[in-house]
Amino acid sequence: MKQFQFEYQDLESFSRELSGFKDRCGREHIAVKMIQVFAEELDREKIQSVCSVITQRFPEALCMGCSTNGNIIDCGLSAKITIVCTAFERSTTQVRLFQYDLSENSARQITSSILAETQRHPWVKAIEMFFTIPQESSTQFCEGLKELRPEIQVFGGVASSDDITSTDSLVFSGENGISEHSILIVFYGGEDFYADAISVTGWKPLGRKFQVTKSHGSILQELDGIPAYDIYRKYLNIENDENFLYNTLEFPLFYEHNDTIILRTPVASNADGSITMTSDIEIGSVVRISYGDPGTIIESIRHDSRRIADFQPDLLHIFSCAARRTFWTSREATYEIYPFQSISPSCGFFSHGEFLRTNGNLNQHNVTLVIAAMREGKKRESAPAAAIEESHLAKVPLVSRLATFISATSMELEESNRKLESVNEKLKMAAIIDGLTGLYNRKEIQARIDQALLQINEERFSLIMLDIDNFKQVNDTYGHQQGDNVIKGLANILHYKQADGMHNISAGRWGGEEFMMLLPGSGASSAVRLAELIRKRFANTEFSGIKPQTVSLGVTQAEREDTSDSLCSRVDMALYRAKKSGKNKVVLI
Ligand code: GH3
Ligand code: MG
Ligand code: MG
Repeated sequence: MKQFQFEYQDLESFSRELSGFKDRCGREHIAVKMIQVFAEELDREKIQSVCSVITQRFPEALCMGCSTNGNIIDCGLSAKITIVCTAFERSTTQVRLFQYDLSENSARQITSSILAETQRHPWVKAIEMFFTIPQESSTQFCEGLKELRPEIQVFGGVASSDDITSTDSLVFSGENGISEHSILIVFYGGEDFYADAISVTGWKPLGRKFQVTKSHGSILQELDGIPAYDIYRKYLNIENDENFLYNTLEFPLFYEHNDTIILRTPVASNADGSITMTSDIEIGSVVRISYGDPGTIIESIRHDSRRIADFQPDLLHIFSCAARRTFWTSREATYEIYPFQSISPSCGFFSHGEFLRTNGNLNQHNVTLVIAAMREGKKRESAPAAAIEESHLAKVPLVSRLATFISATSMELEESNRKLESVNEKLKMAAIIDGLTGLYNRKEIQARIDQALLQINEERFSLIMLDIDNFKQVNDTYGHQQGDNVIKGLANILHYKQADGMHNISAGRWGGEEFMMLLPGSGASSAVRLAELIRKRFANTEFSGIKPQTVSLGVTQAEREDTSDSLCSRVDMALYRAKKSGKNKVVLI
């Protein structure tokens, strides 16, 4: 693949240059298959006339393009209108263009059509996408392309304009003209075509976590139940004024989705305290404010550019967020992409959003650099070692050190909070659980009985009180330790009943070898049935070195006029009668 670029000055000189190029193509057998126009201005007339000149001179080539926040050629900033011609050197390489109008088709219709087209064209190996700024969530679109063949690379960008705060954008093609609401889809492929793509953020998470508790599409309403804007004011002292976007640009929200790092930048703050983000952010996402650290960015670019260099591309397509351009204001706009300059020719633009498919999932990114590498033919055997610039930021700036300090401190705080929470959880359990049996203690089971009495009009309930028979003898004959084992034996049966989950039974140790069960929703007869089951099971429980033991059970159903005392006395009386009448029995009162 080869690229030839033109920096537009005026229509006349462009026409001339293009005609000259057309002649050269004839002489040198250059097969121009695609001509892309990147326009930093939304001048429809100018764009239209540029496209007309192109389609006249190269009617057989695809002509397409979009509006941008700045054009990139060979990793440097290019003219406001830049034209890039792509020629293929292998006859097997193919390219196809589709344009979908977003106001006429749903995301579902578009993705099903793209899927169907990839079935029809089995040669497709890469899909490049150019969107106008979406008015709705792109999640459905991304989800809809999950079914693409796993080996198909997908990358692209959202058109923009020279004003980063504006939502105006255009895409256009020679065939379908200029549109404010469209997606352009380019298929690349063929047996000699290869593609790879990476994304680089380099932004570092900073400080504590927040959970997205309320959001709707790209409107972020609340973080941890607090209006999202208040978080930016509290932690970054950013005012809700006309500079909001510029001040927050360097502090996007950072989270993980589909195992990929996603960044979202605020676009505007709204009167209700919500923030409009660059794109969707789902409820439940755990986000942190993040910080663009020049050292980290350069380091990660240096690292990731090796993969691209190793791919030995013929050319690169670059989609870099307009926010990154603004971030590097004190340097050149394309400062961070220089390491790619030595790899191959490149073209691209500063975008309003970036797309990349990673591990089969297509994600919309923001504040991200997406680089797609394309090549015809196999890799050369001995690749010349790509000269990737070493990091020249040996001295770490103070602000970067502070960011690391804050980040490390908040990670430590989070870790201590996690430990504290787990200690609290244990303490809470210790306050309601009996140590020997693991059942509720008397205080807890009593509290549950009191609560059940308060709700008796909505739900009836019964109690079972249990006392192991002749337990003193067990202690006397086999020792206290064996006595404990017998208590645990009965407790296990009660645990088992409590754990069935369906009946919401609570079981507690009332004292010594006495237990109490609360059966919400149960009347007397089902409580008696359960008591009988427990009695039999306990009588059949085997203990090593001790003969089987028995238990007596009292059962009663709570009445509306019961107090806690009257109810407990009645179940105690039922148990007493079971004992009196010979033990190993169930008595209902
Ligand atoms: P009955 O059939 O009438 O219930 O006779 P009993 O021998 O079981 O009489 P009682 O309920 O009065 O005896 C309870 C005994 O349980 C008294 C006490 O020493 C013993 N005990 C109380 N708590 C524990 C404990 O945690 N472990 C052990 N091993 N014994 C306990
Ligand atoms: Mg007793
Ligand atoms: Mg007893």
